[in-house]
Amino acid sequence: MNSAEKDFHSLGVTRQFINAMEDMGYEEPTEIQVKAIPRLLAGQDLIGIAQTGTGKTAAFVVPMLQRLKYASIDIPRAIILEPTKELVIQTESMVRKLMAYTDLRAVAIYGGAAIKSQRQALEDGVDIIVASPGRFMELYLSGHLKTKKLEVLVLDEADRLMDMGFMPQLRSFLEVIPVKRQNMLFSATFGEKVESLSSEFLEFPTRVEVSPQASTADTIEQRLYHLPNFKTKLFFIERLLNAEDMPRVLIFCRTKDRADRVFRFLERKVEGEVRVIHSNKGQNTRINAFRAFQEGEVRVLVATDVSARGIDVALVSHVVNLDIPRTIIDYTHRIGRTGRAKNQGVAISFADPSEMFYIKKIQVLIQMQIPLLKAPKDLEVMDFLPREERELAMELDRQKKLADPTFKGAFHERKSVLKRKGLL
Ligand code: ADP
Ligand code: MG
Repeated sequence: MNSAEKDFHSLGVTRQFINAMEDMGYEEPTEIQVKAIPRLLAGQDLIGIAQTGTGKTAAFVVPMLQRLKYASIDIPRAIILEPTKELVIQTESMVRKLMAYTDLRAVAIYGGAAIKSQRQALEDGVDIIVASPGRFMELYLSGHLKTKKLEVLVLDEADRLMDMGFMPQLRSFLEVIPVKRQNMLFSATFGEKVESLSSEFLEFPTRVEVSPQASTADTIEQRLYHLPNFKTKLFFIERLLNAEDMPRVLIFCRTKDRADRVFRFLERKVEGEVRVIHSNKGQNTRINAFRAFQEGEVRVLVATDVSARGIDVALVSHVVNLDIPRTIIDYTHRIGRTGRAKNQGVAISFADPSEMFYIKKIQVLIQMQIPLLKAPKDLEVMDFLPREERELAMELDRQKKLADPTFKGAFHERKSVLKRKGLL
């Protein structure tokens, strides 16, 4: 049994959803998921408060899907309300992924798009609706949306629903849905408006809350450096370790292979003991390495997200993201290991040009700009590893294509230039 299975399983999640989450790369539940899922599966009304990027969507979608089980009557049994079109689209796409191993049907209902296809989807039969309040009422009033079988209601991003002045729509919505149902409210913050909303919509709710992650805490100083490639990153971390007061440093890499390279490079070049931990080295070896690190015998520990999972180390002076994590969850996990309990910690991130894409996403989610520092002028820019430059170019192309589906890619461009010149 792997860790995802064990952890989600112990929360009461069934196989088909664990499989779907594995496909999505979820290896263990986030804190809000741990707190919310069992209660929601038990049918309670619930208020969940946790900051943006903490995994609230799966926290309510998985129990909802599991309770609905399979497609039955053709009219909706669950509805998720979202404040904006973008959030409707984003949440519906997550619902689809999470229900991949069921025959449940979902539809996105939002304004600013043709109403016809949304109407058609409702006529074809649907179990779950993800909707913005305005378009929902429009389709309800025109008789296309039947509400009498709604069993589950989710108000997502409740603080933003309130800020955007949706209260009147929500009140009229309340009048047209069955009284007996399970209610959930999720929000990043819990102010007065959200509180009054919850008292109108929920019945004796349980409230679960996740205290803000370390990422926004004042106890962590975050720094960012632009560095062109892996070798330059190696030389720079060596330089930092030899120049600055960094007594207990946890270095994160994207892969085992890269962690090994960092270890072999630093081992000979910096003062103090350096160790690397691997996911394939067994739990005990990992725990011992962490213990030695904790007790100060080891100064620098090189790890991957996977190998560091589930191991609690406090009082790390510096976390170094030698590679930028791809998800906000990994970012907050990593840097949360420094700056705990009033100890000032430092989180340093090295980003190559393709990793700025992830830095930008992370900055949106932690709602701050990570201060960008200049690498020292005399830092030598090193060569690329074999294949590294090409991989970087391909990743940049991929990112441009994501942003603009009509973009053909630099490789393509180059080819067409060659063709024009008659060289191909
Ligand atoms: P929120 O609604 O709290 O802002 P989301 O539900 O949108 O957060 O999740 C933020 C990101 O984290 C998404 O990319 C999501 O796929 C990912 N995520 C959620 N749960 C997990 C998990 N258990 N493991 C890894 N990634 C997760
Ligand atoms: Mg959300």
